[in-house]
Amino acid sequence: MLRVLGGLLGGKPKEHVIDKYTRDLTAVTFTIHELDKRLKRNDEVLMRWQHRLKIYGTTLVVLFGAMAYSNYRSLPVTGLTFLLGLLAILGLSRLLCKVFEYQRRNIVIKLDKARAQHQGTLEDLKKATNFYSTHSLIQRFSSGPLQSQDASTLMDEELQSKYDELQNLQKELAQLRGDSSGKSTNEAREETDRWFDKVLDVLSGGGFAIENNLVPVTCRKCAKTSGCYVVRNTEWTYVCPHCGEQQTNSAEPEGTTSRSPSGDMKDKNSTT
Ligand SMILES: [Zn+2]
Repeated sequence: MLRVLGGLLGGKPKEHVIDKYTRDLTAVTFTIHELDKRLKRNDEVLMRWQHRLKIYGTTLVVLFGAMAYSNYRSLPVTGLTFLLGLLAILGLSRLLCKVFEYQRRNIVIKLDKARAQHQGTLEDLKKATNFYSTHSLIQRFSSGPLQSQDASTLMDEELQSKYDELQNLQKELAQLRGDSSGKSTNEAREETDRWFDKVLDVLSGGGFAIENNLVPVTCRKCAKTSGCYVVRNTEWTYVCPHCGEQQTNSAEPEGTTSRSPSGDMKDKNSTT
């Protein structure tokens, strides 16, 4: 019952569409083939008749000429008979051509109509089966003669975008070097740090939240940084290159009350 209702509301199912168009296209293709055959036969019959006309016509003309000569014994009459005979053959040949040409034109018109119908049916089928959207999707996500290299295409695109991002970073770095001459050390350092953040972001795939997860390590004794970064909530040991102080951090789940040293440092250094 539900299926019947669904069929009524949801329109014709896909299989029916395919069946219908298979039937239509078969019929149209059959018509085209038949008309093609008729066209060929028409030309062949015309050739055959022309050939017959030439052989039998000239034979008849010669026969009539001979009869005229034997009856009247006069060359002008014989010549006239020949001339009239040849003209009759030419006239008949022209008539034959006209008739067959007329038939040919009719068949060609029918053939054109059938071909237009064929094209129209194909277009309808494509629309009914969403061919164009499917096709464009397939083209977008596949390549190669068997269209099976979809993964590599996607990978290539990803690599290309990564490459572009890195190229941009390289440009930025060059710009940074050019600009840093007129700035204070702190400003230049800040910009460099920001640039490094971007590099790490690109290398980590972009989905990694640098701002929250990557923190600079600051020595808890001398409060100096060495440009070293750690990922928050991971295990690490840091030896300060300035004073030799060693500090370790064990991985802690997020949300615990005891803050890791790096977290404290981050709060302290968030202004820089
Ligand atoms: Zn230190």
